[in-house]
Parts: sequence; C-alpha cells; structure tokens
Amino acid sequence: MRTPHASYPSVVERGVLQRAADFLPRKAGKLFLVTQQDVWDLYKAQMDPRIADKAEVLFFPGGEPNKRLASVETLADQMLDRGADRTSVVIGFGGGIVTDVSGFLAAIFMRGVPVLQIPTTLLAQVDAAVGGKTGVNLVGGKNLIGSFHQPLAVLIDPRVVDTLSTREYRAGLAEVVKSAIIRDPDLFDLLRNASQAVLARQAAEVDELIAATVRIKAEVVSADEREGDLRRILNFGHTVGHAIEAETGYTRFLHGEAVGWGMLAAIRLAELTGYLEQGSAQSMREVIALYGPLPPAEGLDAEKLLPRLANDKKTLQGQVHFVLPVRIGEVKIVSGIAPETIAQAIRESLH
Ligand code: NAD
Repeated sequence: MRTPHASYPSVVERGVLQRAADFLPRKAGKLFLVTQQDVWDLYKAQMDPRIADKAEVLFFPGGEPNKRLASVETLADQMLDRGADRTSVVIGFGGGIVTDVSGFLAAIFMRGVPVLQIPTTLLAQVDAAVGGKTGVNLVGGKNLIGSFHQPLAVLIDPRVVDTLSTREYRAGLAEVVKSAIIRDPDLFDLLRNASQAVLARQAAEVDELIAATVRIKAEVVSADEREGDLRRILNFGHTVGHAIEAETGYTRFLHGEAVGWGMLAAIRLAELTGYLEQGSAQSMREVIALYGPLPPAEGLDAEKLLPRLANDKKTLQGQVHFVLPVRIGEVKIVSGIAPETIAQAIRESLH
C-alpha cells in the first residue's frame, strides 16, 4: 500500500501471526496489544512470543455500542498507567471494531504513535483494517469521529478465518463480492465457480480471495487516500446498506448483510437507470445468492430508507451519490437520480 502519507505492506500469509514482531520498528518501545478476550483465548498461543510474552494486553469489550470515544479514553488511560510514551506501539488484534478503535487510539495517543494491524475477521482482513480509516461512533451515527492513520503493516493470517461463525464469514464474503463487481472479473469468476470450496473455507480459495480483495482495496486507496471519486467506488452497496443498518438500529443485520441488500438495490437501480449492461444483473444476483441467504428484509420500507440516504456521511451537500454497476468489474458514480426511481429500486430489490 502506498499513500502520500505512508507506504506499508499488507501481508496475506498463513502463519504470519508467528512472525508478527518482524513488522515492528527496530526501536519500538512498549507494546500495547488491544484485543477481545475471545480472540485472545483462541489465538494467544499462535501469536509471536516476542509480542505475546512482552506486550501489555488491553482487553476491549467489543461490540458496536462500545466503539465509542469513552473506550478510547479508557484504553489511553490504561496505556499511560502501564508506562506508555511516544515510542510505544499499539497492536490491533481483532475484528473491525478492534482495528478501528486501536487505529484511532494510536492516531491520537500523544498526538500519534504507530499501529500494527492484525485483523481476525474476514471483514476486517479485506476491508476494515486496510486503508487507514480509523474511528468510533457517535450517538448520532457510526464512525463520525475518527482520523486517517496508516498502520506500520496489516498482517493477515487466513487461518483465523476458520473459527469465525458461518454468519460472520458470509458477511465478510459480501465485501469480497463487492470488490469483484467493482473491479475484478477474475475474482468474480472464482466466487461464481468455486463457491463450494469458498464456503468450505478451503485454504487455496480463501487465500486467493483475501489477497485479491486486499489488492483491490490497496490499489484504490493508494490512488485516492481520502475519498475522492475513485475511493468512492468502494461504497458500492453501502449507500442503501448504511440506511438499512441505521433504520434497524445496527442490530438486525451484520454490516456485510446490509451491504448484500444494498448491492441488490444498486443493481436494480442501475437497471432502471439504464447504466447496467444487459445480462450482468442476473449473474451478479446469482453470486450474491450463492453466499446468502441474506436475513429477510421484511418490514424495511423504501419510504423510511429514502430520507436516511440523505443523512449518510458520504452524502455531500445534499447530493446522494450511488455507485452503480455498469458491467462485472466496472462501476460508475451517479448522482441526481429521481427519488421515485430510488424508491422503486429499493422496493423491487428488498423482498
Ligand atoms: P467485529 O469487530 O464486531 O467482530 C465480530 C466478532 O467476531 C467479535 O465479537 C469477535 O469477538 C469475533 N471474532 C473476531 N475474530 C474472530 C475469529 N478469528 N474467530 C472467531 N471469532 C472472532 O465485526 P467486524 O465485522 O469484523 O467489523 C465491523 C466493524 O468494522 C464495524 O464497526 C465497521 O464500522 C468497521 N469497518 C471499518 C472500515 C474502515 O475502513 N475502517 C471498513 C469496514 C468496516
């Protein structure tokens, strides 16, 4: 990954946990590993002993309601109590909530210390921990406080995917499907042709899809770190997806599941507005279905979702931008679509 602010490796390697300390700065001071108890119980034994035996381990309770400034302050206080200074290094070891919180903690602790990201959910490996966005939630919305803070490295050990629940794993796959549709026909073919192996978490396929998705995110973010037009393509499925998450209080759907519904809405919208090449919609829907089923969308009302689109953080000066598929591997950013057409697309796709 290369951005104007940093250049760092994203490593996809079975067993990289065992050599994680190779990616620490030579003169690193105290290490502070932020994790959740369940993740630590599962993977402490596999962690590089130069980290497992030396780091101060700070437990974060996890969960979206705890992804708040108060938790960052608690962690910062714990760091200080245990002797942190400007040479300290934060290690984020967990799902996207842990990597977002750890990254933000590192970004603001003593005005910034380095962070090493070691994501342990598929979603965090292919998305949350890659790209340098960090942050926490406000009562009024998700991720509304944060900063860009690029890590020393992102270490992805695909073995940890084996212990994810089926639901978490499938939710992570939604971001992989998204990446394939926006930029990678070969990845799309893998998802379409090898779904049994992917769902069975076979090593070759899992490694390939993680590497491909990380590469896509790294390419896009390297070209556009701070969300100009290119980085926006990563929001395919997220415009309606975020509205669904907000409308259901972030409890009914996992992020990837909401993105799954959001992709279906964007595909329908691309059909209705004439952007989508003939024949592509069906194969996109089929691949989304292969990694479903998505939890039912019953009761989600297009009229209620519509105002939420305007409230999205990605909305600029009242203009809702949609990322619409043109063909497999290519999307277009479109604004100024009539609200009736958006409502129709939502109605016709959420069932
Ligand atoms: P999460 O962090 O809540 O993790 C889900 C659960 O999985 C946790 O309860 C954890 O205990 C458990 N877990 C973690 N690793 C495990 C493993 N290997 N085996 C078994 N269980 C494991 O959820 P998530 O989906 O990873 O992350 C969601 C968060 O990511 C959201 O807050 C979202 O806003 C954020 N996000 C950030 C970005 C970004 O660019 N910064 C991008 C996408 C998502």
